[in-house]
Amino acid sequence: MDREEEARLKFGQRIQRCYGCFVAFYMKNMWLAEGGLFYCNNCKDDSMFHFEDFSRKLDLSKLQPD
Ligand SMILES: [Zn+2]
Repeated sequence: MDREEEARLKFGQRIQRCYGCFVAFYMKNMWLAEGGLFYCNNCKDDSMFHFEDFSRKLDLSKLQPD
């Protein structure tokens, strides 16, 4: 597994609160909306991108706290 994939998986384990229903989910189960807000599977709409998509486009090195 390369560093990028490792960072991606780690990022997916982060807990994030859904902006729609305020329930906390793992990032890997969330959807990214325009404006950088994250939504859960129940609150997402067709304009949003699933973790599998956006996590491959983002520069995760900038999101890593450590
Ligand atoms: Zn939600």
